[in-house]
Amino acid sequence: MNDEQRRIEGIGMTSARTRERLVQRLIDNGISHQVILDRIRRVPRHLFVDEALQSRAYEDSALPIGHGQTISQPYIVALMTQALVDGKGIRDLGKVLEVGTGCGYQTAVLATLVGTIYTIERIRDLSRATRNRLSDLGVHNIRYRHGDGMQGWPGQAPFDGILVAAAPSGIPEALLEQLAVGGRLIIPVGPPGGQELVRVTRGATGLEQETLCQVSFVPLLEGTG
Ligand code: SAH
Repeated sequence: MNDEQRRIEGIGMTSARTRERLVQRLIDNGISHQVILDRIRRVPRHLFVDEALQSRAYEDSALPIGHGQTISQPYIVALMTQALVDGKGIRDLGKVLEVGTGCGYQTAVLATLVGTIYTIERIRDLSRATRNRLSDLGVHNIRYRHGDGMQGWPGQAPFDGILVAAAPSGIPEALLEQLAVGGRLIIPVGPPGGQELVRVTRGATGLEQETLCQVSFVPLLEGTG
């Protein structure tokens, strides 16, 4: 193993054994999709946070990533991914829009399950750092944009799936419009302290909405930072 492989594999608090405890916790909490569990095992979450926080990277909690933002809790990343891909193959998910790239952890977990991810982040530094990080990790099926994800990415629509990692007070109309028939939108909605994770599916005759669980996300903000 060379130094770079060792850095990715991790040791002690970032080792395979520590990661397995996290995976077991996700299984206990109802995550059953084998590819997702395998991504949680393989994606080196400790390389998505500051060095000072690396020993906590495989705890099931959100952690700060600077700019007042957080890396999402692994359980929530797994749950959102499962809600998006369950029962679908990679061919059904050719184009997926992600709003709120952040540090790119969700992007990396999702990457092998879909064709191309179009990811938008409103904070330029985060978008740039994440592009470099994921490229270093060999995750290449991603298109990055610095911008306001509330508007979606009209030039690439429609999307087979849309995943939003920050909470608006109501579902942005543009995102519903950019959802393909058969496509799913996974989005937290509501004010701080009262958010719900919602799945909207576009059927041939209209939209169907389900509430998945209570969640706590940073707010989806208009414009760019
Ligand atoms: N997906 C990340 C979590 C990111 S936190 C993970 O895997 O851990 C949510 C991110 O959404 C933040 O980086 C925030 O800057 C971004 N964000 C908030 N409002 C946005 C908007 N309107 N458009 C794009 N990104 C937005």
